[in-house]
Amino acid sequence: MPRTKVYPIDLHTHSTASDGRLSPEELVAYGAAQGIEVLSLTDHDSVGGIDAAWSEAKQVGIEFIPGIELSTALSEGECHILGYFLDHSSPTLLRTLVRVQASRRERGRRMVEQLRALGVPVSWELVQEVAGEGTITRTHIAEALLNVGAVGTRQQAFERYIGRGGPAYVPRYKLSPEEAIALIRETHGVPVLAHPTFVDPHRDWGTDQPRFPAWPFLERLREAGLLGLEAYYGEYSADLAARLADLAKRYGLIRTGGSDFHGDAETPALGSVAVPPEVVGALRRLARHCSSPWLKRTFVSGAS
Ligand code: AMP
Ligand code: MN
Ligand code: MN
Ligand code: MN
Repeated sequence: MPRTKVYPIDLHTHSTASDGRLSPEELVAYGAAQGIEVLSLTDHDSVGGIDAAWSEAKQVGIEFIPGIELSTALSEGECHILGYFLDHSSPTLLRTLVRVQASRRERGRRMVEQLRALGVPVSWELVQEVAGEGTITRTHIAEALLNVGAVGTRQQAFERYIGRGGPAYVPRYKLSPEEAIALIRETHGVPVLAHPTFVDPHRDWGTDQPRFPAWPFLERLREAGLLGLEAYYGEYSADLAARLADLAKRYGLIRTGGSDFHGDAETPALGSVAVPPEVVGALRRLARHCSSPWLKRTFVSGAS
């Protein structure tokens, strides 16, 4: 497959520990083969892939940053909070994730019931088979719908059935953004707002003005302990990224970036985002400030 340029830093990726296609080991090995030098694994509501990814990263000699992506509730829309360098063995964290995973399973079952009531021949067993060990997400339900031929693409599954407000959409228990930020801080990680424009797609981002207008929501999260903003993301244009980088600076937040690679052809490719190299140093400095246990370890094979 012809590839466009691969940028060496990617801080937003998914594995089979959530809704990615590659196992944590495969993801890291693939990244190294593609020319990735610094990789973070940020599975949805799961730290289940971190140990495996970390050992593979040591094997192949790339820098690995442990991460997570927590889905949080807003009255309208969703807010995803990334957590970098967190202590993934923290009992508080693991207790919360068990609760979130249970709510995801329950919600998945209810979505399958709704789909069956609509005459779609999908089963909970199939969804579980598709999800494997990973966090159960709507991506898996979409995949199951594709497998039974109820839709032609996963995108269609969201449009017809399981997108927010769709006939088989079921909400679930979620943390608030403040709770997610507090949890990451408590576990010595660095909380970062993921793909900021998705929080409020209806907001006027002031693209006709030289700079973004003030954003009270961001101030609210900053007061709750947010430390960074994902300015460089997936298909964000260079202009949008520059505006978000400026916004981060105005709010005293660091910038991060990544592709949101899921191991499939539909989502952006690994290393497809130009993340400035200074992002990694800034993130590591903050993690040290947050007393991350990871900063006491060796990341790069052979480094001291
Ligand atoms: P969940 O966390 O269970 O609500 O599932 C959300 C996941 O579904 C996201 O992380 C995306 O990977 C995927 N997703 C959400 N909306 C869409 C969409 N419109 N088309 C394709 N995938 C989507
Ligand atoms: Mn996903
Ligand atoms: Mn996300
Ligand atoms: Mn993601």
